Amino acid sequence: MAPRVHIIGAGVAGLAAAIRLRHLGSAATVYEAARRAGGRCRSYHDPQLDCVIDNGNHLLMSGNTAAMAYLDEIGARDRVAGPADAAFPFVDAESKERWRVQPGAGVIPWWILDAKRRVPHTSPVDYLSALRLLSADDTRTVADCVGTDGPLYRNFWEPLTVGALNTPPTEAAAVLMRPVLMETFLKGAAACRPLVARANLADALIDPALAKLKAAGVDVRFGARLRALTLGRGVTALDIDGTTIEITGEDLVILAVPPWIAETLLPGLPVPPAGEPIVNVHFRLARPVTDEGDVKIVGVIGGLAQWVFARKHQGVDIASVTISAAAAVVELPGEEISRLCWRDVALALELGETAEPPSRVVKEHRATFAQTPQTLGLRPPTVTSWPNLLLAGDWTATGLPATIEGALRSGFKAAACAQQMLPTRKAA
Ligand SMILES: Cc1cc2nc3c(=O)[nH]c(=O)nc-3n(C[C@H](O)[C@H](O)[C@H](O)COP(=O)(O)OP(=O)(O)OC[C@H]3O[C@@H](n4cnc5c(N)ncnc54)[C@H](O)[C@@H]3O)c2cc1C
Repeated sequence: MAPRVHIIGAGVAGLAAAIRLRHLGSAATVYEAARRAGGRCRSYHDPQLDCVIDNGNHLLMSGNTAAMAYLDEIGARDRVAGPADAAFPFVDAESKERWRVQPGAGVIPWWILDAKRRVPHTSPVDYLSALRLLSADDTRTVADCVGTDGPLYRNFWEPLTVGALNTPPTEAAAVLMRPVLMETFLKGAAACRPLVARANLADALIDPALAKLKAAGVDVRFGARLRALTLGRGVTALDIDGTTIEITGEDLVILAVPPWIAETLLPGLPVPPAGEPIVNVHFRLARPVTDEGDVKIVGVIGGLAQWVFARKHQGVDIASVTISAAAAVVELPGEEISRLCWRDVALALELGETAEPPSRVVKEHRATFAQTPQTLGLRPPTVTSWPNLLLAGDWTATGLPATIEGALRSGFKAAACAQQMLPTRKAA
């Protein structure tokens, strides 16, 4: 019998693995515990707002090579959108000052010499702190490298670190910021365009992948939870909701579940602990802020909101707020979070004095793993000591932060390993 590949979890890591292995057709199966795919990157209809919302705004950058490759493979590059330029508008909620951070076209960051493109009240010399970050070893935090004083910290390093690593700079691992800088800001404007789903995450990243898998004959089973793995020298069986699936000779298993599930399925596997929550607030606006299909992104400094995303899709105008590293915010009542965020949204989008519209607060308690120096060594590699078991997920040893880019790369890598293992075994 032809070897089978069993992929557990239909988050973006599992979907990326499945997409790369779709040539196996019905010899590949995806098992997803939930009733929908996407995991921590999912969309659903919200009855209060009467529209589809995401569990959280997900920002990509045009320099995210795996994300762009994945979008191309699933035929969805046009389903993400962002401003035409690599420009990040900011507003200070306290001083009301507005500015744009705008990297230049070349790989040498000449733009920091231009006061109109860099963070206000900073000098080019301040940016040398990036060199300490780029050369940091894995014991250092971001704050160890860039300090915690001055406008560059408050207006650049802190929002960038919290946004990318969901961890305050005083705790965040400096080495995880290196790829963020190297693959985006230090590559020039073409790699620095912020991108988000034009309509929603399902439309951009999930549904087109599911359609590709269906067309290729890959079976994606929903409501199919892996309860246990039987382990000998390798995986010998899967318990999917009480049904035993034998794993024979050349079959492979790719486990693409979050770390808090992986540790229950593979006792003894060290995994990084969960980090801080992320809170999102979606407001259904009474009047448009963007044109149909366009997206506006504004960073807020000194408010409760950190990033505001406004989009219009099929006539529905939504402004969404992201609050990362939100341990202190998540315990507040939803109404209070909405009220405080609306103030920031109205400022960011220049709406003037307007009544707070209907909103939905989404609290993701386990958003990412804790991306600190202490957890780096707990990220396992793709290949395990069980010869037919591979791991994928944003928490595995990608060298990247826990992001869509990291999750996709982990899925691609697991698929590449599987591809190498399958023919070798066939030939044996
Ligand atoms: C609110 C929020 C905002 C974020 N913002 C950004 C952002 O702006 N940019 C960015 O790049 N990243 C962002 N992220 C991170 C990003 O969402 C994750 O890194 C990525 O989605 C992780 O994908 P994954 O496939 O590794 O894991 P998951 O999405 O957790 O997927 C794992 C899947 O496995 C399934 N599963 C679990 N247990 C079982 C089982 N026993 N059997 C079968 N299936 C199982 C789950 O249901 C899930 O579908 C954000 C995350 C959150 C929560």
